[in-house]
Amino acid sequence: MEDCIFCKIIKNEIPSEKIYEDDLVLAFLDIKPVNIGHTLIIPKKHFENLFELPEEIAIHIMKITKKIGLAIKKSGADGVNISINNGKAAGQIIFHSHTHIIPRFIGDNLPVWPAKTPKEGQLKEIAKKIIEELARP
Ligand code: AMP
Ligand code: ZN
Repeated sequence: MEDCIFCKIIKNEIPSEKIYEDDLVLAFLDIKPVNIGHTLIIPKKHFENLFELPEEIAIHIMKITKKIGLAIKKSGADGVNISINNGKAAGQIIFHSHTHIIPRFIGDNLPVWPAKTPKEGQLKEIAKKIIEELARP
């Protein structure tokens, strides 16, 4: 993908602070970190989002995410958030699949997601839809 900023990072066409690399993935520090140490792990091949990733790459990313998350924790974080934004509505701005590994510190006071109170029957209704989708071949 010629215009993809993360493909350019992989090809070393733009600089990054790399922390891990193997045949399938690259991890580097986010240029605008939520907290210092905020890391992104990306597949070396271009896939738009999690749903396009081949299973074996998705599994490998989770394995390396765990390894890096633990290293971030041992480097001084009190906790670690792992997140993947899939699609514009979910806040994805770079359309090369990436996993955020965000160090958290007691008292860092980052905003938490607002919680909704579901209306009568709403949970059952959405559960039914999701279960139907899961059952599709
Ligand atoms: P997302 O909203 O999940 O698409 O997140 C994209 C992330 O990529 C943001 O946290 C950006 O700060 C980060 N980012 C964008 N450009 C760069 C870059 N050149 N080097 C490192 N991180 C970047
Ligand atoms: Zn790309």
